[in-house]
Amino acid sequence: MILTESSAREILEQAVTFHRSGQFEEAEELYLKLLAADFFSLAVKHNLGTLNLSLGKLKTALKLIDEVVLEDPDNEEQYATYKLLAKELYRNNHWEAARPWLEKAISVNPNDQELISFLKRVKPRDYLESEVYDPQANKTLLRYSPREADTYVYTIDISGTCNLRCPSCPVGNFSIADRNIGMMPVALFRSILNKIKQESISDNPQIWLYNWGEPMLHPKLSEIIKIVKDHGFSVHISTNLNTEQGIEKLAQANPDEIKISLSGFSEQTYSKTHKRGKISLLKSNMYLLRYYLDKYKSNSHVWVGQHLYKNNFHEKDVVNSVCHELNFSHSPMQAFFQPIEKLVRLMNDQVDDADKNILSELLMDPRQYIPNVIKHRSGNYDCELRFNQTVINYDGEVALCCGVYDKKNMLGVNFLERSHHEIEALKYQHPFCQQCRQNGCDYSSTEPMDKI
Ligand code: SF4
Ligand code: SF4
Repeated sequence: MILTESSAREILEQAVTFHRSGQFEEAEELYLKLLAADFFSLAVKHNLGTLNLSLGKLKTALKLIDEVVLEDPDNEEQYATYKLLAKELYRNNHWEAARPWLEKAISVNPNDQELISFLKRVKPRDYLESEVYDPQANKTLLRYSPREADTYVYTIDISGTCNLRCPSCPVGNFSIADRNIGMMPVALFRSILNKIKQESISDNPQIWLYNWGEPMLHPKLSEIIKIVKDHGFSVHISTNLNTEQGIEKLAQANPDEIKISLSGFSEQTYSKTHKRGKISLLKSNMYLLRYYLDKYKSNSHVWVGQHLYKNNFHEKDVVNSVCHELNFSHSPMQAFFQPIEKLVRLMNDQVDDADKNILSELLMDPRQYIPNVIKHRSGNYDCELRFNQTVINYDGEVALCCGVYDKKNMLGVNFLERSHHEIEALKYQHPFCQQCRQNGCDYSSTEPMDKI
C-alpha cells in the first residue's frame, strides 16, 4: 500500500500511542513502516532510538540517535534524549561511548549535577599516561578510566591467609599453588605506607587491606587502619565477617569502607559456597557491626557484596531486606571463578574434577561468557589491574595483579626495594599477562570500547 501524508501521520500517531503505553513491538513495526516509506524520518528515527533504549538495545539506539543529531545538530530540544542515552551508556559501563553524549547534554544544561558527576568519572585519570607500549604484544595499548576505583589503588594483603575455603577462590580451590602464608608485620606496613606517600602517582590513592586474605584475622588491624588514616589515605576492608572477635575494634577504627562478602543466607546455601563459614555467626556479626558503628558514631560506608550462584539466587531479597534494616548497601553480583591461573586453564579445557561442582553452580560458566567478551574487544586497550593497581603480599613481595595466586606470577621483588616505575616495567614484562589476555581473562574492560 502506498502511504499518503495523512495516512502516514495517522500511523505515526498510532505508533506513538503504542510506544507510550509500552507496546514496543507494535510501535516498532509502525515506525519501521514509516521509515521504509521515508515519512517523518527524523522524528521516527528519534522515537525508534528511544524505544531501543527502553529495550536495552544500545547499539541500535546509538546508531539511530547519532543519525538524528547528524541531520539536526543544533536542536536543543533533544536534550532529554541525549541525557537518556548518556545515562544508559554510563549505567551499562560503556563509558567511552557515553562521554560525547554526556558532554553534549551538559553543553545544553551546564547545571545538571548528575551528568557532571558521570562525566568526571568517565574521563581518563590525569595521573595515568594515556597509552603504554606493551612489549609482550609489541603494540601500544590505550588506557581508560578504571572501573574499580576512581583513583590509583594499592592492594595490601595484610593477612596472607583466610579462615574459609570457598571453592570459587584459590584459597579453597588451588591448594597445589606455591604460596606462603603469614601476617604482615606492622613495621613493614608502616614502611610501605611511607613509600606510597612519597611516590604514589595519584595524590589520593585508595588502600585496600585485602586480596586473598581475611583482614579481620590480623591481630593489629585497627592499628593498621590508623596508620593509613594518619597518612591521609582512604582505607578499605573486604571481609567474610566470619570471625568471633574484632568487630568492635573494626567499628571503632572507622575505615572508609567495609565490604561484607557473602553468598547464600541460609546454612544450606552459605556453607556450600563459603566453605567452613557459619551463617549464624555472619548474621549475628552483621547486627553486632551495626551496634558498634552506632555506639562509636562511626561513618564507615558498609556494603554487602552478595555473590549469586544458582543455589542462592532466591535469597537475594532476604539479604536486601536485612541490609535495609541495618542501613548497609546491597550489591548482588554474579559469582566468579578465580584465580586467573585457573581461568586460563579452564579456557583451554583443563578442568579439575574438584572444580566441576562449583562451576555447575555458577550463573554462567566462564567458558560461555568469556568467548563473548573476546568477540567485543578490540585488543587495543590495556588491563586496568595492571595500570591502576599495585598488589603487595603480606611479606612485602609485589604480585603481578590481584587476580593471580601462584608464586610464579609474583614479580619476585620487594615493594620497598623497587620504585613504582621499576615495578610497572616488571609487570609489562611478565609473560603471564600475554597468556591471560590471549584467553580473554584480563580486565581490559569487559565492554566493547571502540564501538558497541
Ligand atoms: S573468597 Fe574470601 S572468604 Fe572465601 S576463601 Fe577466598 S578470601 Fe576467604
Ligand atoms: S593481563 Fe591478566 S595477569 Fe596481567 S595484570 Fe591483567 S588480569 Fe593480571
